Amino acid sequence: MDKIVQLQRDYFNSNATKAISFRIEQLRRLEKVIKTNEQLMYDAIYRDFKKSEFDAYTSEISFVLNDIREAIQSLKKWSRRRYVRTNLANFPASSYIIPEPLGVSLVIGAWNYPYQLSLAPVVAAIAAGCTVILKPSELSAETSAVMAQLINTNFDPNYLHVIEGGIPETTALLEQKFDKIFFTGSVPVGKIVYQAAAKQLTPVTLELGGKSPAFVTESCHLKMTAKRLIWAKFFNAGQTCIAPDYVLVDERIEHAFIQACIAEIEESHFSFENDNYVQIINERNFDRLMGLIPSEKVVHGGNSDRHNRFIEPTLLSGISWEDAIMQDEIFGPILPILSYNHLDDAIREVKNRPRPLSCYVFTKTTSMREKILAEISFGGGAVNDALMHISNPHFPFGGVGESGIGAYHGEEGFRAFSHYKSILDKPTWFELGLKYSPRSPKKLKWVKWIMNTFN
Ligand code: NAD
Repeated sequence: MDKIVQLQRDYFNSNATKAISFRIEQLRRLEKVIKTNEQLMYDAIYRDFKKSEFDAYTSEISFVLNDIREAIQSLKKWSRRRYVRTNLANFPASSYIIPEPLGVSLVIGAWNYPYQLSLAPVVAAIAAGCTVILKPSELSAETSAVMAQLINTNFDPNYLHVIEGGIPETTALLEQKFDKIFFTGSVPVGKIVYQAAAKQLTPVTLELGGKSPAFVTESCHLKMTAKRLIWAKFFNAGQTCIAPDYVLVDERIEHAFIQACIAEIEESHFSFENDNYVQIINERNFDRLMGLIPSEKVVHGGNSDRHNRFIEPTLLSGISWEDAIMQDEIFGPILPILSYNHLDDAIREVKNRPRPLSCYVFTKTTSMREKILAEISFGGGAVNDALMHISNPHFPFGGVGESGIGAYHGEEGFRAFSHYKSILDKPTWFELGLKYSPRSPKKLKWVKWIMNTFN
């Protein structure tokens, strides 16, 4: 690993990655590699957890291809030097900011959207002019192998290389000196990555998780709320970082809401055969999830098949904040429903917990929407919808507090892998002279006037 990191550093120092034309060429190459091997990628993700081509395209491949297209279109604009005003103390001069690539970067991916979460940060790194080592998740072993095969046979390893592996390999990688680490995964591992990065003073982007609430208020459109929430929760069998983790529903509509959710689940026919459901990634997670279902609180679902790593879409009601399911991110197809009497109480409970990656508000009441949006801090979210904000490429995507540090997608991704270098550029035909000796009260008066009057 020292060798590959050193080779990438040498390559970066050769300036080869800096030309815009080079970056665009590499982005085009990645686009071509993906497009010509799409079927291979779909087959691999199906082997990993039965994710269908439909879901893999809509939630993974299309994201990466859109990011590539946007980067190619906007790269010149993003990397342009930006002029800012010059203050009078520096007259005459021009002042500008030059985006420059941070250097050798490490991208560590998660398994739940293995292509999107590995390749979208790689696109951002390439656009910014960095070299990249990508370490996909070992839990989605088939997609990891396909990415390694496709990237390692199509790119110079000194520039872009996939290293496969689990904890030992990632630990060894984290001992190296990188100029940027981009991590997607759980909060506990995020802390390990942050600590390792701190030893080298390496800047990080941490895309983490947490428990994202969905508020369902009395004035919501009940049928549409159930439709959108159920789709968002059970897409990818609930293994989505921004999935609504739990619902907070006004007790006056709880019963009607649960009935609407049950009707929606029944209408959706979630199954592998219908291509709209996926397996739990492994038996360890299957067992963890089954251990979170208190049978007496199941209002729908609850059945499972360990051999196929299948858990029915499950609704729980009568849940309290003390229940085991409310302690950690669920990351599976179980939706606990908690009811509230006063919205303020529900908001207070959410605020007493780590800041979520997402929050969803289902309401027709403007004042309730504004109250929740103003009072609760979270990464990003939606009003009267869930999950879909991630599909808007014009949004930065990232967490806050325990749900993450930094953001990406579009220009925000370019920024994550860039440093913005400020330059004061002075001609030599004039010098104000006030800063030089000898000093005098008169000079100080001038300095004070200039510094206080003009900025
Ligand atoms: P994870 O933290 O277990 O693993 C993520 C990566 O870290 C993997 O590549 C893995 O090999 C590596 N890793 C695991 N343990 C490690 C250790 N001890 N030392 C060093 N590296 C280690 O996460 P996961 O199970 O792949 O993904 C699920 C979590 O990720 C959930 O919490 C979810 O919310 C979060 N997530 C966040 C986003 C986001 O964009 N914010 C997206 C997807 C998933």
